[in-house]
Amino acid sequence: MALPEGVQYRDIDGEQRLATRGEAVYGEPVADGWRAWDAHRSKVGAMYELGMEPGLERGGGVLYLGAANGTTVSHVADVCGPTYAVEFAARPMGDLLSVAETRENLIPLLKDARKPETYAHVVESGLDVLVQDVATRGQARVARANRQFLADDGHLCLAIKARSEDATRDPGDVFADALDELRETYTILDSRRLDPFHADHLAVVAEPR
Ligand code: SAM
Repeated sequence: MALPEGVQYRDIDGEQRLATRGEAVYGEPVADGWRAWDAHRSKVGAMYELGMEPGLERGGGVLYLGAANGTTVSHVADVCGPTYAVEFAARPMGDLLSVAETRENLIPLLKDARKPETYAHVVESGLDVLVQDVATRGQARVARANRQFLADDGHLCLAIKARSEDATRDPGDVFADALDELRETYTILDSRRLDPFHADHLAVVAEPR
């Protein structure tokens, strides 16, 4: 698996660790300016550890939905170009604003990812990657509604949390339904469970149809 420029395995504290270059954010170990990317705390990190290709590229434009307090989006912004970070909860937004202080390409937006029309005037279209990690019902619907920001040759990098859809259903059935819904708008390139890093999560890489 090829890692994009800006993502490397580095010797950090005597271990080979997935890492990006930037200011530390969540107490992760750092060596020579490279900060460990903890796959147990990041679904995109777990995708790399499992050999998936989420589509991040040096300098590329990204829309990140569900940025929370910036753990993963900080690594994404270390690698990519303009990175629009949508989060609808006010509490993590304070941390996200601090993370953005050291990354001028990171643009936090206090918005609801189910309502792309509320940020369409700010977020450019033709972006290279749409990263989505929103713990909400209707995750496939959110990914479809935000396709408008992706270039035709861009990539969707999505983590689906089964329990956010329906805690009582078998996760495999939840994932099958979500993939069917995604296929209305996307061609699925790869999908894998994120065990052992994140239980009952499916990672999906797809491109617009
Ligand atoms: N992606 C983050 C990371 O790896 O650092 C973790 C994200 S956390 C699992 C899910 C986040 O999605 C929460 O912060 C939650 O507030 C946010 N969220 C849920 N529904 C949302 C919505 N409709 N719009 C924006 N954010 C949403």
